[in-house]
Amino acid sequence: MKKNIVLVEGAGFCFGVKRAIDIAFDVAQKHKDNVFTLGPIIHNPQVVEKLKDLGVHPIDDISQEKIKTLIIRAHGIPKEKFNEIKKLGCEIIDATCPFVKKAQNLAEKLASEGYQVLIIGDKKHPEVKGILSYAGEKAVVIEKENNQFDKDEKIPSLDKKIGIIQQTTQPLHKAKEIMNRIINSLSEFEEIRIFNTLCNFTSKRLEETKKVAKEVELMLVVGGKNSANTTQLANLCKEIGVKTYHIEDAQEIKIEWFSSAKKIGVTAGASTPQWIIDEVIDRIKKFTN
Ligand code: SF4
Repeated sequence: MKKNIVLVEGAGFCFGVKRAIDIAFDVAQKHKDNVFTLGPIIHNPQVVEKLKDLGVHPIDDISQEKIKTLIIRAHGIPKEKFNEIKKLGCEIIDATCPFVKKAQNLAEKLASEGYQVLIIGDKKHPEVKGILSYAGEKAVVIEKENNQFDKDEKIPSLDKKIGIIQQTTQPLHKAKEIMNRIINSLSEFEEIRIFNTLCNFTSKRLEETKKVAKEVELMLVVGGKNSANTTQLANLCKEIGVKTYHIEDAQEIKIEWFSSAKKIGVTAGASTPQWIIDEVIDRIKKFTN
């Protein structure tokens, strides 16, 4: 039976990831030897494989290879790492997303002006580790595993002057929850500065996914299993209560998933290429037409 397939607006590559990948493919055309990315350029195994075929390999340990050109991915890297790479004397191609760069620059500026920097985000995420390295010694990250902030989450004791920034991909309502709690204790502070470092691409995709998830019976969330923002999309759909499958590619789709669903939604994380989304749609059509 023919099904209705709804693709979420803005599913797939965000601006920063597309930019980083374009840079990596461009570098692959120009430089043939000893080109590396520090870690995988994105959390998508298929794209990483394509780049490997063109001679661009991910590495974690910069001391293990003879590096001529090193590409820094969209999440950015800690300041100390950047300085370490500089010492190697190789060519550095910095593909850090401009939104992440903005958060790093703000963190550095606030710290230099004497503010204690508070980052709302996931401590283990590479982007946050990078921002934190610019934020001075007193900086703190407020986080909770899987980004679920409890009502009782303890806010660490803070200085009188604080500057708040957010991991770019934080959901707005979670960031607001923390910021409201700090503002409610305004009397304890001399000054609170809040900067918006959230990325619109992420919040828009979350909003659009939410809309679609509410009107379909089945959601397929496409993207790397290790991609934080794809997992966030899958969790959002599950929270809404719609049957959800997180898949990396079309091959994982099973025909029996579609037996009772009349309307199927498809969304994809920021690191999912359009060709994988197209293959997923084609396979759904093949199974349901
Ligand atoms: S999600 Fe936003 S901040 Fe992160 S890489 Fe994409 S555009 Fe940049």
